[in-house]
Amino acid sequence: MQNKVIPRAFGLFLPHKSTQIPNPRPMIETLSTTTPVGTMATMQEMGHEQLVYCHDEASGLKAMIGIHSTVLGPALGGTRMWNYKNEDEAVRDVLRLSQGMTYKAAVAGLNLGGGKAVIIGNSRTDKSEAMFKAYGRFVNSLSGKYITAEDVGTSKTDMAWIASETAHVSGLPESMGGSGDPSPVTAYGVYMGMKAGAQAVFGTNDLAGRRVLVQGIGNVGSYLIDHLISEGAKVYISDIYDPAIESLMKKYQGLSVVNPSLVAEADVDIYAPCALGGTLNSESIPLLRCSLVAGGANNQLAEESDMQRLMDRSIAYAPDFVINAGGLINVYAEIKGFNRDWAMEQTRNIYQQTLAIFEQASNDQLSTNKAAIQLAQKRLSSALS
Ligand code: NAD
Repeated sequence: MQNKVIPRAFGLFLPHKSTQIPNPRPMIETLSTTTPVGTMATMQEMGHEQLVYCHDEASGLKAMIGIHSTVLGPALGGTRMWNYKNEDEAVRDVLRLSQGMTYKAAVAGLNLGGGKAVIIGNSRTDKSEAMFKAYGRFVNSLSGKYITAEDVGTSKTDMAWIASETAHVSGLPESMGGSGDPSPVTAYGVYMGMKAGAQAVFGTNDLAGRRVLVQGIGNVGSYLIDHLISEGAKVYISDIYDPAIESLMKKYQGLSVVNPSLVAEADVDIYAPCALGGTLNSESIPLLRCSLVAGGANNQLAEESDMQRLMDRSIAYAPDFVINAGGLINVYAEIKGFNRDWAMEQTRNIYQQTLAIFEQASNDQLSTNKAAIQLAQKRLSSALS
C-alpha cells in the first residue's frame, strides 16, 4: 500500500522552559544494567520529563517512549526493537538511552532534546506494518515533543510505516526525502574522536602504524575501517557474524582477525567498540592492553565505576556520546533541510570537541566522561537561564 504523505511539521514544538536550573544529573552511571528500577524515583533522579507506555492489542505493540529533556528542542532519538527479558529491562534501557541522547545533542551543539523509544519484541519475527503504524500514531500523539528514527532492530521500512501516521520521524530513505544511512557520518565522527584521543594520549593524531581493534564490523565499524586503512593503521577486526569477516577480508589485505571471546586481551593501542554497549566492565577492563578506547557503540561503560576502573589502569576513554554523534547530526540536518556536506562538516568538529574534553578532564582532574557530562550540563543550564 502507498504511504500517505504527511507534511513534516517540526516547528510546532516549543522547547520546555522552566525557571529552575537542573542539578547535574547522574548519567549512565547510576543506572547500571542490573539496578532494579523504581520508575518514578529513577525518573526524578535522572531528570526525565516523561515516560509513555504504548499498547495496541490488535498489532501486539508494546512500547515505551522516554523523553529525558526538551530543554534544547524536541526530544530526538531512535526506536529500538529488542527482545527484552522483562519490562524492567526495557524501562532501564529507554531511561538510559534517552538521557544519553540529551547529552549527545547538547555536546554536539544541536537544538535537540533527548529521547528514545523501545519496542518489546523480536525484530526478526514479531514485526508488522500494523504494529509500526500503531506505534506511529502514539508518536504522533506527542505532537512533535518526540521525534523518532532508526535504531537497533528497526529499519528504514519501519520508519516509512511510521511516516504514514506521523510527520515526527526522521532518518527516512533518500527516496522519501530523508537523509539515508547515517552510519558513514557516525563513523567519520568516531574517526575524528579517535584521532583527538590519539593526540591526547600519544602526542600525535597520526594513526599510521597504530594497532586499532574494531569490535563489530557492521555499518559503523566497516566505515570506520575504511578511514583507518586509508590512514595506514594496522587494523584488527572482530565480529560474531562470520560472513561480515569474510567479506571484509576480501576487501582489504592485512587485516588481523580476533576471536570475539579474546577482544579484551588483544595487544593493541586503540580499542574501538562498535558492536553493543556494556563491553567496558569489571571483567573486561582488567584484561585490556590498549591505551585508548574510542568507538561508536552507545553506552560502552556498563556502569560509572567502570570509568574509574579505566582510569586506575591509565586507559584513556573518548566518551561514546561525544564521538558517535555524527548520526544524530545527520538526522538533524535532515530535519533542518541541510545536506550531507553540512553534516560532515559539523561532524568534523568532533575532533575539537573531544580534544577540549580531554584538556578539561586533565585540568580539573576529572574523568573524560564527567568532563563531557559537565559540558552538556553547562549548555542545558545556560539555555534555561
Ligand atoms: P550493526 O548492527 O550494523 O553492526 C553491529 C555489528 O556488531 C554486527 O556486525 C554484529 O554481528 C556485531 N556484533 C554484535 N555482537 C558482537 C560481539 N559480541 N562481538 C563482536 N561483534 C559483535 O550496528 P551499527 O549501526 O554499526 O551500530 C553499532 C553500534 O554503534 C551500536 O551500539 C549503535 O547503537 C551505535 N551507533 C550507531 C549509529 C549509526 O549511525 N548506525 C549511530 C550512533 C551509535
